Amino acid sequence: MTNSANKAVIRTREILHEKFGGECWGQDCHESDMANLEFAHIFPTQVKGRGRGRKERIYDISKNPGAYAYVCKYHHVELDLIRKMINAGRENLGLPPVFFNK
Ligand SMILES: [Zn+2]
Repeated sequence: MTNSANKAVIRTREILHEKFGGECWGQDCHESDMANLEFAHIFPTQVKGRGRGRKERIYDISKNPGAYAYVCKYHHVELDLIRKMINAGRENLGLPPVFFNK
């Protein structure tokens, strides 16, 4: 990646940080350090995986903001567990998953 392309990715990441509220979505969690915040998939998009800062991922988040939650590492794990629990319960009912399964 060229230097200017890298700068564009960093700038887009900063814009997304502001757009998503500048801090973790976890209740009473005020983590606001960009280095400690991640975009967690809720609904499927073209891009999969946990990679952060990669160009494809950043542009996917820009295009599909509703498919992501903005959370710290702790709340990312919590979100994954909640999602897994709800999907497992729905499977018991014979219903399709509502959330993205990795
Ligand atoms: Zn948090």
